[in-house]
Amino acid sequence: MLQEICAPFSSAINFTPEKIPTTLATTIKYYACLDCPYTSTKIANLKRHELIHTGKKPFKCPQCGKGFTQKIHLTVHHCKV
Ligand SMILES: [Zn+2]
Ligand SMILES: [Zn+2]
Repeated sequence: MLQEICAPFSSAINFTPEKIPTTLATTIKYYACLDCPYTSTKIANLKRHELIHTGKKPFKCPQCGKGFTQKIHLTVHHCKV
């Protein structure tokens, strides 16, 4: 009767996630952002995205979205526009 008690646990170990398309998961590599749920299939896209979190360009133009490393650069940029 002990075998019957153990049975659900052994089946749980042999559990295979059928809902996950394993073929897709292995063929397509996803690059995931560590700071947010952002994922991309291209490393270049992730590298560009990561700039949001790095704080290298914390001053962003609200009109065109261009990032600047220093506030003075953003101010000058606005004067030009
Ligand atoms: Zn992110
Ligand atoms: Zn701008």
